[in-house]
Amino acid sequence: MHKQPIIDVQSIDKFFYTPERLQALNRVSCTVAHGEVVVIIGPSGSGKSTFLRCLNRLEYADTGHIIIDGVDILDPKCDINAIRAEVGMVFQSFNLFPHKTVLENLTMAQMTVRGRSKKEAEAKGMALLEKVGIAEKFAARPEQLSGGQQQRVAIARSLAMDPKIMLFDEPTSALDPEMVGEVLDVMKNLAREGMTMVVVTHEMGFAREVADRVLFMDKGEILEQGAPEHFFTAPTLERTKEFLGQIL
Ligand code: ADP
Ligand code: MG
Repeated sequence: MHKQPIIDVQSIDKFFYTPERLQALNRVSCTVAHGEVVVIIGPSGSGKSTFLRCLNRLEYADTGHIIIDGVDILDPKCDINAIRAEVGMVFQSFNLFPHKTVLENLTMAQMTVRGRSKKEAEAKGMALLEKVGIAEKFAARPEQLSGGQQQRVAIARSLAMDPKIMLFDEPTSALDPEMVGEVLDVMKNLAREGMTMVVVTHEMGFAREVADRVLFMDKGEILEQGAPEHFFTAPTLERTKEFLGQIL
């Protein structure tokens, strides 16, 4: 079994100069085990997105260490494309390539980043579209799909890289309510298959059902964390209680 955590974040800070100095992350430390599902909650502006983005170096943490599967991703020699392939990310806005078909969205990075042939990439792409329940749309353009369908394509596109870790930043926040369930179902299946996942979401039903651990962030810090059954019923801090009181 794996003794080392797959994600080991050691005391990272992140500052933005906007132009005034703003500390988005303040000495954040956190480990995630192989196959663990961690849900992050917290008020708007608390640093949730910044934290996720640091994990695949969309943002570069200013201090500390981030070790992903044994590799220090803050090492300037670290190959950023390799990091992004190993650490998939799904955003609130689906970010598909609008002028490409659904299948092309899934094959391009497989060929350029993973060096697969077109045939190989298409076979893998179709299998993943099948998995997220949308294979019949392979030739459509993103704009022809509903938001829920687009988000499922975006998840499949990340999975096509065979990532070790999947990050989700409010993946259902931009969806009409009737489409939230189909995206959460895909995520639940991934979790069941043992994918390591870090998920920022307001879907507390998902957190209760799927998360191994819930983290509460406020003002750039992880203030409290715990298994969902404890976290939701017996939070320790007043600040956590107050926040849960607002969203539950
Ligand atoms: P959350 O995802 O919890 O809403 P964010 O991580 O997006 O929070 O933001 C944390 C803080 O950092 C906020 O004050 C936000 O305004 C600021 N911030 C985030 N990204 C940038 C950026 N690219 N430039 C300047 N400030 C930013
Ligand atoms: Mg955010």
